[in-house]
Amino acid sequence: MSPSGAELIRQIKGQINEVDPAEVHDLVDDGVALVDVRETEEFNSGHLPGARHVPRGYLESRIEGAVPDRSQRVVLYCASGNRSALAAHTLSQQLGYEHVESMTGGITLWKDRGYEVEVPRALTTEQRERYSRHLLIPEVGAEGQQKLLDSSVLLLGAGGLGSPAALYLAAAGVGTIGIVDNDEVDLSNLQRQVIHTTDRIGTSKVDSAEETMRAINPDVRVVKFPTRLGAENIMDVLQARAWDVVVDGLDNFPTRYLLNDATVRLGIPVVSASILGFDGQLSVFKPHEGPCYRCLYPVPPPVELAPSCGANGVLGVLPGTMGLLQATEVVKLIVGAGEPLVGRLLLYEALGATFTELKVRRDPDCPVCSRDPAEISDEEMGVFPDYEAFCAAAG
Ligand SMILES: [Zn+2]
Repeated sequence: MSPSGAELIRQIKGQINEVDPAEVHDLVDDGVALVDVRETEEFNSGHLPGARHVPRGYLESRIEGAVPDRSQRVVLYCASGNRSALAAHTLSQQLGYEHVESMTGGITLWKDRGYEVEVPRALTTEQRERYSRHLLIPEVGAEGQQKLLDSSVLLLGAGGLGSPAALYLAAAGVGTIGIVDNDEVDLSNLQRQVIHTTDRIGTSKVDSAEETMRAINPDVRVVKFPTRLGAENIMDVLQARAWDVVVDGLDNFPTRYLLNDATVRLGIPVVSASILGFDGQLSVFKPHEGPCYRCLYPVPPPVELAPSCGANGVLGVLPGTMGLLQATEVVKLIVGAGEPLVGRLLLYEALGATFTELKVRRDPDCPVCSRDPAEISDEEMGVFPDYEAFCAAAG
C-alpha cells in the first residue's frame, strides 16, 4: 500500500540530514550555500540573509546555476521544513550533491528564534516584466537585477565601443550611466556608432546617447560629461559618483595611462577594449586583484598600433562585438557572476574569426599598482613622456 503524504515525508526525513536553525545561524558566513526552495512570493516577503533562491518546482533545472559545486555544503530551507526535506532528498539521492541538509522548522522557526531576515526590495510590476528574462536566470535573478538598478557605470566615450555598451547596459537596467564625450555626431561616425542617428548629425554625442538610452529604458539615469577627459578633470569625473565600473572606450594611449593611474588610486575596476582594422582586444583591470594597464603595457605599444595618431580604418561591426563583450564583463562584475576577464587579455581577429586568450601577470615592480594607492601623487598620474614626438614618429 502506498504511504500517505505525511507518512512519506516522515520516511524521507529519516533518509536525509536535518540541521537546527541555531547551527545554520553560525554557518551563514562559513562558505555554506543556503538555498531557499519556496515560491517567489514567499522569498520576496523575506528570506535568510545571503540565501539563493531556487523554487522547489525548478530544483532540477536551476540548482546547478545556483550551486555548481556538488561537493559544497548545501543547506535547504522552506517555510516549515517539509518542502526542503523533499528537495534535500532529490539533491542527495538523484543529483549527486554530497553534503546536503534541510533546516528544521524552516524560516518560521528561524524567525521564532529571533534571527535576522532580509527583505528584498521588490521590483515593480513593470520591472518584473521588463527584466523577466534576467529573473529567470539564477546568476542574475531579482537580487542581481536590483544590483544592476543600484549600480553606476561610467562610459568613457560615446563612440564605436561606447555606443553598443551604452545600448545594452541601458537595456539591462544599469540604474545610472555616466557618459564622457565632448564630440558632436558626425556623418562618418554612423558606420559604427549605433547609438546616434542621421537626424542628430551636429548635435552633441552625450545628448544623442542620452536620448537613445532613455527611449530604450526610462529606468536609467544618464549623467552627462560633455568634456574631454584629461589630467585637469579626471579626478572630478571619477569622483562625481561612486562608480562601480568604468568602461574604457578611449582612443588614445596617454589618456589610457592617466585613467589607469587614477582608477588604481581610487580602486575602481576598468573594462578596457581597443580596436584597429579587424582586430580587437579586451581585458578587465581590477585594482590590486589583477594586473593594471601599466603591468600589461609598461611602455606604449608600437607606433603602428597607435590609433590616436590619426584616423584609422576599422570594420564597422568590430566595435560592436568588442563593446558588447565589455558590456558583458560589466554585468558580470556588478551581479558577481562568472569569471571576469581579470589577468587575461582576449584577442579577437575578425577576418579569421578567432579568439585568443593570453595570461597577463601583475608586475611586482609596477610603478603604479605595486604601491600604496595613497602614495600616488597627482603629478605622477598619467606620466607618458613626449607623446607628440611618439605620434610624429608614426608619420
Ligand atoms: Zn600595474
